[in-house]
Amino acid sequence: MHFLENFEPELTVESPGRINLIGEHTDYNMGYVLPTAIEKKIIFKFRRNNSPNICGVYSETYDTGFEVDLNNIAQSEVEWENYILGVVNEISKRTDKLRGFDCTLQSDLPAGSGLSSSAALECGLAYGLNELFDLGFTKMEMVKLSQAAEHTFVGTQCGIMDQFASVMSEEGHVLLLDCRSLDYRPIPINFHPYKLILLNTKVSHNLASSEYNTRKKECEEGVAIIKQDFPEVNSLRDATFEMMESVKGQMPEIVYKRCSFIIAENKRVKKMTRALAVDNLELVGELLYEAHDGISKLYEVSCPESDFLVEFSKSNPKVLGARQTGGGFGGCTLNIVHENAVEEFIVSAAKAYLEKFGIELEPFEVRPSKGTSFSKN
Ligand code: ADP
Ligand code: MG
Repeated sequence: MHFLENFEPELTVESPGRINLIGEHTDYNMGYVLPTAIEKKIIFKFRRNNSPNICGVYSETYDTGFEVDLNNIAQSEVEWENYILGVVNEISKRTDKLRGFDCTLQSDLPAGSGLSSSAALECGLAYGLNELFDLGFTKMEMVKLSQAAEHTFVGTQCGIMDQFASVMSEEGHVLLLDCRSLDYRPIPINFHPYKLILLNTKVSHNLASSEYNTRKKECEEGVAIIKQDFPEVNSLRDATFEMMESVKGQMPEIVYKRCSFIIAENKRVKKMTRALAVDNLELVGELLYEAHDGISKLYEVSCPESDFLVEFSKSNPKVLGARQTGGGFGGCTLNIVHENAVEEFIVSAAKAYLEKFGIELEPFEVRPSKGTSFSKN
């Protein structure tokens, strides 16, 4: 692309991926989540280019780029371009201060692995443009416009967690976020002598985004049924197991399973918060296993590869707990492993996984890290 010659950036933005300790699929059900950013991230470089309306964007990871005309922003046939176009579109709806810019990005965040490279892409761009053109958006506004971009241009009806975690996280903490009020509290986590190990299954099922939207619809169907008898229920956040029992006869079995998972998962977030407060790592681990069971059997967003790795971890007494993290159908499992046993665990899991699926596992350690940051060049 022409702008890559003599590219002298004005601004660098670091936009991290995230893990979620617990609270899967609870965000769009207005419940609780417990995510944090990780060190893996997308790094953007920006400059204004003196054009009133022509922008260039280049992904070094994909070795490809494209132009955006601010006077004619439309969805693209190319999937990744829609994350960019969606954000530019949402910003253009809110301000007329955007002008031509050039931007390159590179990433060590595996895409489609449940670590939310999508939110990192959206929020990093929003953050950069906010600084570059002095748009005056608050962090929360950037979180929300990035989520809106994913809804409108990408077509995934995602909740608020991924964008929130990428932007707002604090080093050494997970964020207890109430997805209805958007109140949040950073909770220190200290797993010493245990480490957070991710095992990337390298499986990324492309039905993930359509299934995601299906799950959201099933939950809404559940709410509509519960609401007939309990009008105070506006989301699964408000529902209880007692209500579920009383409406069981009216609810399709599949909807019942989905709703039961979400109600239990919300409870697990609260239990997890209490376990963290008293450093009860055994309970932290148990909750992860319990959550994975629900993810796999009730919410049915796991896959044989993730199930295998979680099951495998159970045979190792040095692993306290494990579950698939992220939207589902592959991606990474999150494991809490004693520091003395990390090497042995990784080697044995990789061997077993290769034998079973013929795929090289990609293991790495993660630490709770800070959210989006920028520096002027
Ligand atoms: P996740 O958010 O779990 O990584 P998604 O399917 O939501 O998975 O988002 C992944 C998509 O984000 C990719 O398919 C691609 O379109 C886009 N993406 C992620 N990283 C990059 C990158 N470095 N360059 C360009 N596009 C990227
Ligand atoms: Mg995503």
